[in-house]
Amino acid sequence: MISMDDLKAMPFLAAVAPDDLARLAQAAGDLRLAPGEHAAHEGDERALFAVLSGRIEVTKLIDGISRTIGARAPGQIFGEVPITFGTPFQGSYHATEPSRVMHVTARDFHALAAAAPAVLTHVATLASERIGGLRGIATAPAKARALMVGHRWDEKVRELRSFLTRNQISHDWLAPDAPDLATRWPGPPPTEAELPALVCDGGTRLLNAGPRELAETLGLQTRPRDLLYDTVVIGGGPAGLAAAVYGASEGLRTLVIECEAPGGQAETSSRIENYLGFPTGVSGDELARRALQQAHRLGAEILVTRHAVGLDPQSKQVTLDGGETVRARSVILATGVSWRRLGTEGFERLLGKGVYYGASRSEAGATQGQDIHLIGAGNSAGQAAMFFANHARTVTLVVRGDNLEKSMSHYLIEQLRGKPNIRVELNSEVRALHGDKLLAALDLANRATGEVKRVDSGAVFVFIGADAETSWLPAAVVRDERGYVRTGEAAAKSGQWPQQRDPYLLETSVPGIFACGDVRASPVKRVAAAVGEGSMAIAFVHQFLAQAIAAPRG
Ligand SMILES: Cc1cc2nc3c(=O)[nH]c(=O)nc-3n(C[C@H](O)[C@H](O)[C@H](O)COP(=O)(O)OP(=O)(O)OC[C@H]3O[C@@H](n4cnc5c(N)ncnc54)[C@H](O)[C@@H]3O)c2cc1C
Repeated sequence: MISMDDLKAMPFLAAVAPDDLARLAQAAGDLRLAPGEHAAHEGDERALFAVLSGRIEVTKLIDGISRTIGARAPGQIFGEVPITFGTPFQGSYHATEPSRVMHVTARDFHALAAAAPAVLTHVATLASERIGGLRGIATAPAKARALMVGHRWDEKVRELRSFLTRNQISHDWLAPDAPDLATRWPGPPPTEAELPALVCDGGTRLLNAGPRELAETLGLQTRPRDLLYDTVVIGGGPAGLAAAVYGASEGLRTLVIECEAPGGQAETSSRIENYLGFPTGVSGDELARRALQQAHRLGAEILVTRHAVGLDPQSKQVTLDGGETVRARSVILATGVSWRRLGTEGFERLLGKGVYYGASRSEAGATQGQDIHLIGAGNSAGQAAMFFANHARTVTLVVRGDNLEKSMSHYLIEQLRGKPNIRVELNSEVRALHGDKLLAALDLANRATGEVKRVDSGAVFVFIGADAETSWLPAAVVRDERGYVRTGEAAAKSGQWPQQRDPYLLETSVPGIFACGDVRASPVKRVAAAVGEGSMAIAFVHQFLAQAIAAPRG
């Protein structure tokens, strides 16, 4: 409890009358923080804090990395900017040693300020000074953490750029013939055989680089720290990140294994309009960014660039690419789905050279001013068309069927109609792609008339549905004919369920192995469903672990 003596030691309360101080002492919170514990997080609602003892460090996420931007000692306050300007916290505040901090709600602060206007003047003056410093941080040109040199059409370059974007790492990219290469690249420019080449954090050079090497150079986690986890989540999309957030926040030692970068398919969605709590929609990468921060903050370990390639149903040991293993008391499969490939002439040859499966925002630059084509009639194709219409000269949606209404949401069809540079070719399919190093044109056939026309094209994005890639799982984890993992009642009926009790709703045919999100055999393929199932899976993990502990005794 805050005492009068605590308050009298605070310079900013020097002019406050004893009665008002007594009221404040009654209302204020007394936070006792262990090292590492937070008083406030970036984005939290406004409040005012004063340090009574110890030391508080201020950090801010810049380019996905938490950077220290200040500290507070006893007698100093923090939260003056949010409380004065009504904004959320612009940084996070944690103790670096055992600390005591006074917490004053916005309501109590304004009651105090009404009684003692000098307090308001003091706090507002401090806020104005502080905002100058924050402005400096916000307007300082962001220094890219990586400079990449490589050909625009090189699939490896595309993979690395997408990897950096998805991991929220700022980077610049230069073509090997860029006029400023000599001034920006340290030393002799990389040879053709050394591309793609990167220089990271101003020093380390990577030649012919791959995502794993890049991840390790940039300090991203690629190896588990422990040998055994309460739960290992495979896949870092919305379902996997939700499981990580709930698992870590509920005290489970949680590891996520992600083969690319966190975010999953949702990360490629330019605007998710129907996710609860975002009235104006939210881009997939923003949602992924927030979820990743949340999972990290709560203590989940997240490996990137690592594939799970094997799972032992008995011991629940997970094998990673390269042969490394990690043991798990429970496993959550959240591997989602991957885009279905087209077998048509030219698609494999021109992959990454103008042909893409799915779409990510990092491809926007490649479509600038071009006439591009999108194959598909679902919501993903519609969203991508809306996004690319802001960059490409024209966007043509190639649709096999005779209308969009069967497969696309009404709101999206209305939005497409409002964009003058989006065309829809119904009853159509792409018969062949043309181009040497890069896609140049495609043959577009009208399925109704049989007419085939050749049209110029700067890029083709394919959205023809997705499949679950689960062939690496052991046979004991029963799947349907399309590879989706059966859970709950369907797992019980598979004839492989080994126990007396019924499987939990999200439990597979192997006790303690769960599946959630798009990889699960279920008709619902939605962000909200994936997030809901990811969090629910943790509730079942708790029940499974409790039962596993109880079983030997019983
Ligand atoms: C363009 C687009 C737009 C969309 N728009 C919407 C929308 O507006 N609203 C909506 O509700 N839904 C939308 N969806 C659907 C939504 O994104 C998915 O339902 C959701 O992402 C499913 O989440 P998930 O975590 O189950 O799987 P995913 O998002 O597919 O994530 C699975 C993750 O697992 C990783 N992985 C796979 N195999 C392995 C392995 N062996 N080892 C390690 N990692 C592995 C993958 O790299 C991936 O990151 C959209 C999808 C797309 C593609």
